[in-house]
Amino acid sequence: MENVTDTIKMLKERGFWVEIVTLVVPGFSDDADDLRRMADFLVSVDPLMPWHMTAFHPDYKMTEGYRRTTVDDLMKIVEYGKAAGLKYMYPGNLPGQVGEWENTRCHHCNATVIRRYGFLVQQSRVGVDGKCPDCDNQLPGVWGKSSGHGDGSRSANAVIRENLNYHSPALSSTRSLEPGPALNNLLTSHPPQTCLMSQRHLRCFRNDDKPPGANL
Ligand SMILES: [Zn+2]
Repeated sequence: MENVTDTIKMLKERGFWVEIVTLVVPGFSDDADDLRRMADFLVSVDPLMPWHMTAFHPDYKMTEGYRRTTVDDLMKIVEYGKAAGLKYMYPGNLPGQVGEWENTRCHHCNATVIRRYGFLVQQSRVGVDGKCPDCDNQLPGVWGKSSGHGDGSRSANAVIRENLNYHSPALSSTRSLEPGPALNNLLTSHPPQTCLMSQRHLRCFRNDDKPPGANL
């Protein structure tokens, strides 16, 4: 836990865009106190930092004795985040089951600016400037042409999810989770635009990095 929080702090201090991904395995990584502490910590760093809480399906490797994550499990964690003051939470991996929470809503005026179904972006109303089309305030995130969204067809979320499985030898630093010279050198020589932090892995990428064969 300390490694994770140190890394998040360090990345934010260096100005990187950071999103948090928590795989929620009931009975394994869904401790209410841990998750509340996580929410409080994230708010203390940046209340606009997105928090993805991802449902576990027991078709992954580690399946013995664990049940799948339900909508209720995820919505409980959304409530922790809301109570702490987080503005952008994405209960994920349950397409069509979490209602408005699959979408991105402006934290100024609550307008729905990106509409999704699972990985699919159904509608994006955010332009390359990253401004809310309704209230004209800036939305947090990495916007612009090369970001893969802002052109009406993609969203940060979609790009990020696709990149979860992308290992760029230069940028993927899953082995150097701890803040230290190796990670610092990597971030300096290949400054990423987006970093994803999960319980165990840090993945950073530039939005112009394309996974082989992906039509981003
Ligand atoms: Zn707005």
